Amino acid sequence: TVEVSAERFLDQNGVRKIILVFYDITEMKRSEKSLKDFVANASHQLRTPLTSIKGYTETLLDMPPADPADGRRFLETVLKNADHMDKVISSMLALAKSEQAGKRLRLGPLSGREHLSRAIDDLAVWAGERSVTFRTRTPEDEMYVMGETDGLLHVFHNLLNNAVKYSPHGGVITVSAEDDGESIVFCVEDQGPGISREHSTKVFERFYRVDENTIDGSGSAGLGLAICRRIVKNFGGEIWHDGYGEDVRGARFCFRLNKPAEKTP
Ligand code: ADP
Repeated sequence: TVEVSAERFLDQNGVRKIILVFYDITEMKRSEKSLKDFVANASHQLRTPLTSIKGYTETLLDMPPADPADGRRFLETVLKNADHMDKVISSMLALAKSEQAGKRLRLGPLSGREHLSRAIDDLAVWAGERSVTFRTRTPEDEMYVMGETDGLLHVFHNLLNNAVKYSPHGGVITVSAEDDGESIVFCVEDQGPGISREHSTKVFERFYRVDENTIDGSGSAGLGLAICRRIVKNFGGEIWHDGYGEDVRGARFCFRLNKPAEKTP
């Protein structure tokens, strides 16, 4: 996109001249648009549960149900929607934080093994309730990567959380790590429905969800993978979906992080 400004004037010889200035405002327009899209998406994500909260509350005030069990059900719906809003707001704040943090992050060597097992421990109870188990395939040697501890945990949590969420009852989640010399590649693979190729890069965009129609109280707003991508980029790494191998049944997310120059912290 180009913006033009023009100014006429007479030069020293009395000749009429015109100055044309062309401004390239493509980048500005793009960031304006992405801010607009962000606000529109965020408003939509918050307004949907809010409308439901208002509807149920107004009904309770105007026409209280005769059966207290119905009243309770209404309140549970109100709470579920409020929880959803709470989680969406937390995700938006996490995204904003990771976007701001980019430039002034202090990266240091972190133990991949330690962070991975902390994340697995944190999800073990929830996974157990769904009879989902974790299997890890990691090298014998300790794996150090360059990063920042909260961010690395966040990425593991998010990928493992999604894997549990989409796993069938009794499913197995395989977490692997591979040292390719310069970097460590971590992959999380589940046995759920997987992600078709047309969605495989879009799922990393803010607010992108393959199935847009569910509000389940899980705070699913399509921000989780956008946050992961930002964090991994801040660490100088990359993240992608790679679920199309012949032996892959569900989704398979991988990310690569640099190893520190020296092996131990
Ligand atoms: P959400 O907060 O909705 O989980 P994410 O950014 O984590 O947002 O994921 C974006 C979308 O990618 C999800 O809504 C879902 O459609 C898809 N997705 C993510 N992880 C998986 C997975 N392990 N299996 C299947 N689909 C997934």
